[in-house]
Amino acid sequence: MKIRSPIVSVLGHVDHGKTTLLDFIRGSTIASKEAGGITQHIGATEIPIETIENICGNFIGKLSIQKDIPGLFFIDTPGHEAFTSLRKRGGALADLAILIVDINEGFKPQTFEALNILKMYKTPFIIAANKIDRIFGWETHKNTSFSKSFSNQAQNTQLNLDKQIYELVGILHKEGFQSERFDRITDFSSQISIIPISAKSGEGIVELLAMLLGLAQEYLTEQLKIEENSPAKGTVLEIKEETGLGVTVDAIIYDGILKKDDEVALMEVGDVLTTKIRSILRPLPLEEMRDSKKKFKKVNEVVAAAGIKIAAPNLDNVISGSPLRVTKDGDHVKEEILREIEDITIHTNENGVMAKADTLGSLEALVNLLQSMDIPIRTAEIGDVSKRDVINASIVQQEDPSHGVIIAFNVKVHPTAQEELDNSEIKLFSGNVIYQITEEYDVWIKEKEK
Ligand code: GDP
Ligand code: MG
Repeated sequence: MKIRSPIVSVLGHVDHGKTTLLDFIRGSTIASKEAGGITQHIGATEIPIETIENICGNFIGKLSIQKDIPGLFFIDTPGHEAFTSLRKRGGALADLAILIVDINEGFKPQTFEALNILKMYKTPFIIAANKIDRIFGWETHKNTSFSKSFSNQAQNTQLNLDKQIYELVGILHKEGFQSERFDRITDFSSQISIIPISAKSGEGIVELLAMLLGLAQEYLTEQLKIEENSPAKGTVLEIKEETGLGVTVDAIIYDGILKKDDEVALMEVGDVLTTKIRSILRPLPLEEMRDSKKKFKKVNEVVAAAGIKIAAPNLDNVISGSPLRVTKDGDHVKEEILREIEDITIHTNENGVMAKADTLGSLEALVNLLQSMDIPIRTAEIGDVSKRDVINASIVQQEDPSHGVIIAFNVKVHPTAQEELDNSEIKLFSGNVIYQITEEYDVWIKEKEK
């Protein structure tokens, strides 16, 4: 039995500072030379607990956090909305999350989207109220704790900051969460911590890391236990073409062990692929990367948590967000993945909307949201909008005009479907923020019912 590092994802609206925050954390841990340093993964970075302690100093002691986790495993956030696909069976891939909000801009569409997904998966999270260096009057104190920097600000500036914090508290309250600035929290089990930070100057990062450890301590004990010799379970982040390697998948292994000659099962649209691994690849250490054309090194095995690239035959049609499971003789992994797809996809003859999404995770989020709005669903599937979807919508429309529609997240419209749409009255609601699509649909219904 081993305890793995909790997997942490950073979510938030575009330009609110996800990349800058992760870069800062990486940079400051590289700079903190004494302990361990960081481990690069494909699609992730792991920071050992000693390094975090080094950075946080006595702040962790003050919170009386016990340190039985090996570190924090941060998933890099891809540029797009892919966090909706970061799931594993029965929950989110991430054990913890940082929801980052530009304190000067407040909540934006993707912030709400992220919050909805955290709510749906019940993922413990903290709020990073970023860009405090842009608060009117703020004097930057590089790399200091929030508390120290805050106490050195003019009173007016302190008030400006708190005003913005209470804007966030108000919105979170409307969304069903109690929250408070972290240093004023009276009950950590019922209130969400808001940590003011600057991802640019590093102010508040100490507290951010310490609060993450606290959250891990509070909520995660059972789910971090892994068997070091049980077959691997993982989630596919991305499918990528690599020179000399062909089509590869980047995946996070969250449980068990993956070995070089394993056969793995992966999801394609509506089907399950099994394929034998050709190689498991990890990033080359920084110092070796300089005098090598290669970016990766082959390894014989990895133990969770790990971010790796896999080269194997036939990966072309694997979908991002796919489960990855090692298959052993006589077990039912393939059936389990099919069942997982069936649990989320819907096929009925009822009058209801047609839902389409790009990954299993985004489909799950979309179905969940539609159900919470009491909108009946006729079909829910992964893939582009097809002619069949339009025909199905027409069938529904004849009996139930308000549900004869297509609701599509992050997918394309097949040309033949577009033709069919142009020749019909069927409405297509599409986009890349789930709750905005459903909101548009809601507005349309209300207009219709007037
Ligand atoms: P992402 O889209 O969420 O990954 O956002 P980025 O990390 O790319 O940041 C968007 C922009 O905001 C960049 O120009 C950053 O330099 C800037 N930025 C991020 N964090 C801060 C901060 O704490 N203070 C200031 N002043 N700028 C920031
Ligand atoms: Mg970014």
